[in-house]
Amino acid sequence: MNRSIKSVLTIFICVILVFTSGCKNNTKQSSANPLIKTNFILGTLIEIKVFDTKDEGIIDEAFSRISEIESKMTINNAETSEVILLNNEAGQKEVKVSPDTFYVLEKGKYFSELSKGSFDITIGSIVKLWNIGTDYAAVPQQAQLEEAVKLVDYNKLVLNKSEYTAKLEQKGMKVDLGAIAKGYAGDEVAAILRKHGVEHALISLGGNMLVIGGNPNGSPWKIGVQNPFDARGAYIGIIPVKDKTIVTSGTYERYFEEKGKLYHHILDPKTGYPVENNLISVSIVTDFSIDADALSTITLLLGFEEGFKLMESLEGVDAVFITNDKKVYATSGLKDSLTIVNNEFKLQK
Ligand code: ADP
Ligand code: MG
Repeated sequence: MNRSIKSVLTIFICVILVFTSGCKNNTKQSSANPLIKTNFILGTLIEIKVFDTKDEGIIDEAFSRISEIESKMTINNAETSEVILLNNEAGQKEVKVSPDTFYVLEKGKYFSELSKGSFDITIGSIVKLWNIGTDYAAVPQQAQLEEAVKLVDYNKLVLNKSEYTAKLEQKGMKVDLGAIAKGYAGDEVAAILRKHGVEHALISLGGNMLVIGGNPNGSPWKIGVQNPFDARGAYIGIIPVKDKTIVTSGTYERYFEEKGKLYHHILDPKTGYPVENNLISVSIVTDFSIDADALSTITLLLGFEEGFKLMESLEGVDAVFITNDKKVYATSGLKDSLTIVNNEFKLQK
């Protein structure tokens, strides 16, 4: 083919591309008519809404990526995952892991250090005793919990980056990535959409939201802060955001009742029991969902006073805190933009 025909063809294809994929400028059409797909992976309902393409293949690629992450990091149902292998070899030998798993283990260890062990990525032995989220959830025996507590220590997770290996130094120890794997999966979905040129999208993985760009009409996305006392879908307030993630952790997310007492799924590594303080939920707003996922869990573990101080101290991190008595606190970066929409809740100045 000669050069000029080639360049005419190229221009022609570009024009077609602008008209088909360039509908991002056609705000009415795109915001009214997103491409939406849902799936159930990582034990949660995942919804991806893309506003500037009709190419389902992009979303399918994102779902495959989440399944891939699940198959590497689950400790629940898979016969083998890299984390299950790591746990099975505890006290024996190191195991080779993929860069995905290595990255999440590294982040997990970093956040365990940041929280001085309130958050601990080796909490698996305690988590396993509770069976929260299953039909046979029950309060474990005190003696069992005492034994499990001794098997929690992130310092004994040894990571070797040059070899991509990980090792648990004590037999019986177990890594549990439940507090951050979903966050990582969200970041990977956003990366896939962006790689394909998506500029306006909403990604939801259970309580974890990521937004790409802003609303196609030019304004920021308006994201609701869940009402922790109400069924899913009700909001206490709204935060305007562009290109951010919002992750909410709440003691109400997963729990069971025994002898009139509620037991939730965020556990104190020092006692083995669900943590108790005045917080019912925390939403973190930042750039990466893995960070937000870790930080929301950490704040619930630390409680309001310490959690607030830590979130204020971190660059590029904002948070909304809801207490058991319906008081709402926001870090300085969010105070002015958070709009309370339910007057049972009072924003504290
Ligand atoms: P959700 O999964 O409901 O979004 P989180 O992101 O807050 O909630 O993670 C809760 C999960 O984290 C628990 O189900 C458990 O697997 C794990 N976990 C519980 N306590 C701790 C802890 N102290 N440190 C690290 N991970 C924890
Ligand atoms: Mg979390």
